[in-house]
Amino acid sequence: MDVSPQILVRQCLACGETFTITHGEMQFFTERARESERAWVLPARCLPCRQARRRANQVIVPDDGDVVLRCCDCGASFDFRSRDRVYFASQGYCYPRRCSNCRPRR
Ligand SMILES: [Zn+2]
Ligand SMILES: [Zn+2]
Repeated sequence: MDVSPQILVRQCLACGETFTITHGEMQFFTERARESERAWVLPARCLPCRQARRRANQVIVPDDGDVVLRCCDCGASFDFRSRDRVYFASQGYCYPRRCSNCRPRR
C-alpha cells in the first residue's frame, strides 16, 4: 500500500517554523543513513535554515595559498592566509570562525 505520500511535520530547531518532510525526503535520508552506516537522523531544521547553515559553513578556496572564510558572528568574509594557517596548525587551533574584528584581542 503506497498510495498517499506520508508527510512528516516537524518544528524547526532554529526558527521555530513548522516544516514538512516528504516521503521522498525520508527515503533520501534513509538511503544516506544506510550508506554512512549512521543512525537515521531526520533534519531538525527547515530547508532555509539548513541552506543558511550550509552557506555559513562553506569554505571558499580561491587558490592554494589563502582561504576565504566566513565570520560566524557578522557574516563577513575574511582571508585566512597560508602563513596564518601554519601558525594556527602549530598551535593546534582549528580554523578561526570569526573575522579579526570579531575575534577577541589578546
Ligand atoms: Zn528554520
Ligand atoms: Zn565578524
